[in-house]
Amino acid sequence: MIIAIDGPAAAGKGTLARRLAREFGFAYLDTGALYRAVGLSLLKAGIDPNDRDAAIEASADLDLELLADPALRAEATGGAASLVAGIPEVRANLLDLQRNYAMNPPGGKPGAVLDGRDIGTVVCPDADLKFFVTASAEERARRRTAEMEARGEAADYAAILRDVKARDERDMKRAEAPLKPADDALLLDTTNLAIDAVFLRAAKIVRDWL
Ligand code: C5P
Repeated sequence: MIIAIDGPAAAGKGTLARRLAREFGFAYLDTGALYRAVGLSLLKAGIDPNDRDAAIEASADLDLELLADPALRAEATGGAASLVAGIPEVRANLLDLQRNYAMNPPGGKPGAVLDGRDIGTVVCPDADLKFFVTASAEERARRRTAEMEARGEAADYAAILRDVKARDERDMKRAEAPLKPADDALLLDTTNLAIDAVFLRAAKIVRDWL
């Protein structure tokens, strides 16, 4: 079984994907981490993430050790990821890896949950279930701020809100695989819904499908 979960930054899709994978014994792939790894490899080398050739090269020979780098989660890495994600060759280079994961989940698991921006539309258009998880930009910025504060980091709500909106704009307006719900995706608006409630609702849908 393949479950596709798409949505904008900080809408709660990662938490939902992880919990569904744990509940049903499925493998989980955070596809945003792949774009982040490409962005981070450039930042670490002091290369401007707008450098197309360098981004294409980094994605063709992705250093998977970067997936474990603590800097992967930094806001700057997210910004760099969203820049390199607009390059068609970068997306093409990461496509096989994602599809292989979905078709052959590691550990012989009976299913895979993938989260990202284009899983239901491009990576796995034939996924068995598709969720599109969203929330208002203000609520997502509030959550990001709280997460950073919980980690003991300085967080500026206004700057985070600006960043969330800029990333939405770039992800939705790009020509290649823009962020949008697949026609057959189930919409989950988490603005006023706690993650437990979101999980229970989605888990029931998965259970009914099985
Ligand atoms: O989900 P996350 O915030 O980690 O993703 C970082 C960036 O990677 C996103 O802003 C988006 O531009 C890009 N991305 C993408 N397609 C995916 C997953 C992430 O374009 N499937």
